[in-house]
Amino acid sequence: MRKTQQATKASVKSKLLSRAPGRLFIVSAPSGAGKTTLCAALLKRMPRMVRSISYTTRTPRKNEQNGEDYHFISDAEFREGIEQGRWAEWAEVHGNFYGTSADFIRSRLRMGIDVVLNIDVQGAEQLFARYPDSVGIFILPPSIEELRRRLEKRGGDAPDAIERRMAAAEQEMARKDLYHHVVLNDDLSRATEELVAIAQRYRQAPGRPD
Ligand code: 5GP
Repeated sequence: MRKTQQATKASVKSKLLSRAPGRLFIVSAPSGAGKTTLCAALLKRMPRMVRSISYTTRTPRKNEQNGEDYHFISDAEFREGIEQGRWAEWAEVHGNFYGTSADFIRSRLRMGIDVVLNIDVQGAEQLFARYPDSVGIFILPPSIEELRRRLEKRGGDAPDAIERRMAAAEQEMARKDLYHHVVLNDDLSRATEELVAIAQRYRQAPGRPD
């Protein structure tokens, strides 16, 4: 590599490292509450924020892309990751393993980039303990009836899977007080504004603004 290129690279790196560290935004919600859409809207609005793409042993759904929606890996690879301490948190959800790459989070936070994670309550609890400055946001569906309607409309889940997801949703919602913020997804654009306002408030304050 030429000397000038090396110098530019080193200066970009040192600028990134001299910034305040990024922050973790941990978003949880029962499936069907709209967290994927809301997080995508949040990411569009927030510069210097990226999404952590989880690793899972679940089989991809139609339209899901490896490396975009999830990194789809085998059971053996996941277990190897546990042994090697590769996951910042991991959990078994609906019979499949899900985990967050510790390396990805560490490197982005060091560069001053915020990271948004879409994970379940078990994973959120692990990260609240490991990263005390992280911000937990729980997304609530407008009502239980609306959640069922959304799950049925989404298709792709058998009736017994919908019942399982509904039971899990009630259990997850009962733990929403673990989070720093609760956002009601009654209307997508209103809920997006609320989410953006929360993230911006933390961006402006080095500690905890609330
Ligand atoms: P789904 O299979 O419907 O995409 O996700 C099922 C559940 O797993 C959701 O509650 C989702 O938030 C959670 N999940 C996705 N990725 C992770 C992860 O990396 N860690 C944990 N703990 N939960 C995850």
